[in-house]
Amino acid sequence: MISPSKALHEILQTLSHSAHSPARPATRLLAVSKTQPAEAVLALARLDQQAFGENYVQEALGKIHALEPLNLDLEWHLIGHLQSNKCQEVAENFSWVQSLDRVKLIEPLSRYRSAHRAPLNILIQVNVDAEASKFGCTPQAVLPLAQKVAAAPNLRLRGLMSIGAPYPDFEQRRASFRRLRKLFDSLRHDFPAIDTLSMGMSEDYELAIEEGATMVRVGTRLFGARQLF
Ligand SMILES: *Cc1c(COP(=O)(O)O)cnc(C)c1O
Repeated sequence: MISPSKALHEILQTLSHSAHSPARPATRLLAVSKTQPAEAVLALARLDQQAFGENYVQEALGKIHALEPLNLDLEWHLIGHLQSNKCQEVAENFSWVQSLDRVKLIEPLSRYRSAHRAPLNILIQVNVDAEASKFGCTPQAVLPLAQKVAAAPNLRLRGLMSIGAPYPDFEQRRASFRRLRKLFDSLRHDFPAIDTLSMGMSEDYELAIEEGATMVRVGTRLFGARQLF
């Protein structure tokens, strides 16, 4: 069993080496805490890890509410598929949605996000390896979606996210990271304020950093293998 504090330290070490220049700040770590109990989140929060990623809204809400009284200033990211009937709970309880992949989600997220709070940060999820997943929009759909997010009150467009196909060949993974990076660079012509390219997980986050990730999403490498249930 790995020690999460040792794993956190090692990963942060790798990420700090990614800060090649002042123009490129260190890649951020999103700790993916799906299936982990609130205590596991708390242990990392005490080590100053602030950003946590969850896939399932109900599971996340349990942890969010359990930890709320501690005022830890945590930043919760939804990284799993978002159903439209969950938009209210997500807009009220999360800081980021990384899995926006269709127009239908924009209006309810915008409507339920209180204007008194910081805007909800949005990444558009792109299916760059078309066969890999049924979620994520096509590369062609990115620009029109981005325009609608950018125009919606209480939402803030921050960039793109992808879940890479688990190609055994890492050069294929590199190629798909590059495709997302290209899309990101071209989107930045229209939206110069976007700053987040979320790609890479436990197995390939070092590779994702080489290809320009500004945020990596790591679960297993931090917490150990997930219990399947
Ligand atoms: C589970 C998950 C991760 C983390 O995966 P690991 O391989 O455990 O690091 C990252 N991103 C998404 C979208 C996930 O669902």
